[in-house]
Amino acid sequence: MRVVLVGPPGAGKGTQAVRLSERLGIPHISTGELFRDNVGRGTALGRRAKRYMEAGELVPDEVTVAMVGDRLGAGDATNGFVLDGFPRNTAQAKALAEVLADLGEQLDAVLQFDVPTDVVVQRLLARGRDDDTEDVVRRRQQVYLEETAPLLEHYADILVSIDAVGPVGEITDRAVDALACRR
Ligand code: AMP
Repeated sequence: MRVVLVGPPGAGKGTQAVRLSERLGIPHISTGELFRDNVGRGTALGRRAKRYMEAGELVPDEVTVAMVGDRLGAGDATNGFVLDGFPRNTAQAKALAEVLADLGEQLDAVLQFDVPTDVVVQRLLARGRDDDTEDVVRRRQQVYLEETAPLLEHYADILVSIDAVGPVGEITDRAVDALACRR
């Protein structure tokens, strides 16, 4: 199964991506994690991405798309994947469709995490990651609404939504049930 998770920063996509990947037996791929790993190792990619991440802005598409293309080409992603944090705008969605078409594949589902904004902002401020200061948290929510939320329309045909407020295990069950309809 090839699935993309979409929802505002703080919706719990990262937590659920790990759990879904275990339940479905496919790798989870998080662009935020890939970027943080590169920043931590001080790679050229990391040095390029860092200032965008610190400001809560999107890293330029050409950098992000190339990184995802490499990752999807790795052997473990051939039978499916859970993508967390990518695509984040329609240009990235189009690029993803092209990468998959070249591999003879396509997406099966886009899973939307439905969470009220005040809940996600409180969660992020409590989480305390480097890019979780109040200004950056607000900017990331704004970027989500402006750039990423239009993807819900773009993917209307394969979109499934879950209520993402509640205990972690229950949300995983909701996600698995919702995805079962798209297999
Ligand atoms: P995340 O862990 O998904 O919240 O991502 C952390 C940061 O990494 C974001 O605020 C962006 O700066 C960057 N990032 C992650 N995924 C993408 C993407 N698909 N496109 C552009 N920037 C991204």
